[in-house]
Amino acid sequence: MISLFPCLNDNYGFLLVEPDSGLCATIDTPDGAEIDAQLQKRGLTLTHILNTHHHYDHVGGNQFLKDKYGATIVGPKADAARIPGIDIALAGGEVFKFGAYDIHIIDTPGHTLGHCAYYVPDEASVFVGDTIFVMGCGRLFEGTPAQMFDSLSKLAALHQDTKIYCAHEYTLSNAAFAVTAEPDNNDLKRAVTSANALRDKGQPTVPTTVGIELKTNPFMRAKTPEILGEIRAAKDKF
Ligand code: ZN
Ligand code: FE
Repeated sequence: MISLFPCLNDNYGFLLVEPDSGLCATIDTPDGAEIDAQLQKRGLTLTHILNTHHHYDHVGGNQFLKDKYGATIVGPKADAARIPGIDIALAGGEVFKFGAYDIHIIDTPGHTLGHCAYYVPDEASVFVGDTIFVMGCGRLFEGTPAQMFDSLSKLAALHQDTKIYCAHEYTLSNAAFAVTAEPDNNDLKRAVTSANALRDKGQPTVPTTVGIELKTNPFMRAKTPEILGEIRAAKDKF
């Protein structure tokens, strides 16, 4: 079971519960107090923190939640030195046993060098941190276009129905750029219309799916690392 709730200005918090064992993870810790409140509201006890990367809006609540719940902190091996309180560092390709669930670690460098995603086949879901956003991708703060291209390719290879849980609600600003990158893409136009309708009602546009992003996301659709780099540079200036 997955629940999603807004945190900070435009982050999302996520709770993942494996029902047989009752294990409960937060994916990243944008706001420790808000995550704590959401746990209490649902009568859940936090057992794990799964971090995608070291940015403060993803690890800021680690210590507070670890102190309060004794939660085990799991994070990407490549970023272990920058994840506060990390207990278990995992490399891409490793599988973390979460009760009856297998959680697959996928290395997704680009936004940061140590970034990872968590793929949960039992929920047909992947938590991508700041790698993919609806109609967008993360800024290349540390990595290269080639690294982001590889990372997006790995996520694009998951089953099309896989739900993508992105860590920010950046959809409408991404949409404004995406339609300039692909003015003739009718799937994209439809996606923008439905995203506007959701946001008008105050609803999240997350999760999206691999299949939807392959039809609408200019970064997922870039055919080469060079093209991805050009689109990313254009978005940075947009
Ligand atoms: Zn970030
Ligand atoms: Fe972020």
